[in-house]
Amino acid sequence: MTLALEQTSAATAAAREKISLAGLDRARLGEALIAAGVPAKQVRMRVAQLWSWLYVRGVTSFDAMTDVSKELRTRLAERYSLDRPEIVSEQISIDGTRKWLMRLPKLGHEARAPEIETVYIPEAERGTLCISSQVGCTLTCSFCHTGTQRLVRNLEAQEIVAQILLARDRIGDWPGASPPGDDRLLPVTERKITNVVLMGMGEPLYNVENVKTAMDVLSDGEGLSLSKRRITLSTSGIVPEIGRWGEQSGTMLAISLHATHDKLRDELVPINKKYPIKELIEACRNYPGVSNARRITFEYVMLKGVNDSLADARALVKLLAGIPAKINLIPFNPWPGSKYECSEWETIERFAEVVNKAGYASPVRTPRGRDILAACGQLRSESQRLRASERVAPGSELSSPATNAAID
Ligand code: SAH
Ligand code: SF4
Repeated sequence: MTLALEQTSAATAAAREKISLAGLDRARLGEALIAAGVPAKQVRMRVAQLWSWLYVRGVTSFDAMTDVSKELRTRLAERYSLDRPEIVSEQISIDGTRKWLMRLPKLGHEARAPEIETVYIPEAERGTLCISSQVGCTLTCSFCHTGTQRLVRNLEAQEIVAQILLARDRIGDWPGASPPGDDRLLPVTERKITNVVLMGMGEPLYNVENVKTAMDVLSDGEGLSLSKRRITLSTSGIVPEIGRWGEQSGTMLAISLHATHDKLRDELVPINKKYPIKELIEACRNYPGVSNARRITFEYVMLKGVNDSLADARALVKLLAGIPAKINLIPFNPWPGSKYECSEWETIERFAEVVNKAGYASPVRTPRGRDILAACGQLRSESQRLRASERVAPGSELSSPATNAAID
């Protein structure tokens, strides 16, 4: 099911011209309050008030902030909004997976508003939100649709946080039932989004500062309160950043490995030419905090006749020996023009058996939202058609690899 949500009213358009505070970190929120005339000595207290309304309650209007004086609410509303990114379309799979194409406000120099994708995958025990860190990607992994598109830009920290705000709005994941003044957190068991994975568009370790700021907002105990252990950053292997990320952030780590020898990985994940497997594995061995309780996830996309032999499976197990690891075998998701095919199911099962026998449990990642994947191409072409007359660069349509994003 696809819903096109066009927001055309004059009031909405006017509101969109105001800068939104939704998704800001504490420092930026403080700056915004000072710019609105809040005295410096009150800023800390006011930030704390807004923080709770924005990130515990998810309010979308200043009027709802009942413990903020009416005068300040009016002043803030004159200057700012609490808008989320505009939803271009929303797709809902029969299995409950949802995918949003979001349009971000243009930055000063941009001719056109960039668009990104975010995916929500509900499961019995958890709900995973797969978010983007860049518009497009500078890397060119040969099996990834995003890799065929030019990078438009890094996402701002606010734009990364806004993806979770918008998703929680759309799936009703705020503690709306609480009486006003009660700022209790929604218990983790009642929350629909329990996990966040940076597996949407882009290479998060090429946008470290913004991703770090955003993950700090997500994990802030007085706000969204998502444990760092429930946040996973996936990287194609930007070796010099891996250790630094582990030290600074404390999130879980996933590595897009996909091959066990350099010749093939150079082809599949070309950044391997710069940071070969040996260095990547070394960085994983030394990842701060890695232990049996905090394993690294290795992602391995199953490509027919390319990396799916039993010899490959044995090489994989050997390569990872000694690293506290989980392995996710990802059935390849084909896209128009891609040169690969997904491995046969029996091949994946035989591969999985070798991996299982080596002590890695349930490694095949179940594809979710397959029906909206089919519709995903239509979604993009629709979006393309709308923009055909203004398009300047070919191949600038957007797509996310994040189609099987829930990870163990
Ligand atoms: N850039 C980061 C995060 C985004 S990609 C990274 O590469 O890790 C998230 C995951 O989806 C990666 O493991 C990526 O290799 C995988 N992926 C990309 N295209 C895919 C496809 N067509 N089918 C299955 N998985 C894919
Ligand atoms: Fe970029 Fe990741 Fe896709 Fe590679 S797999 S092109 S790093 S998004």
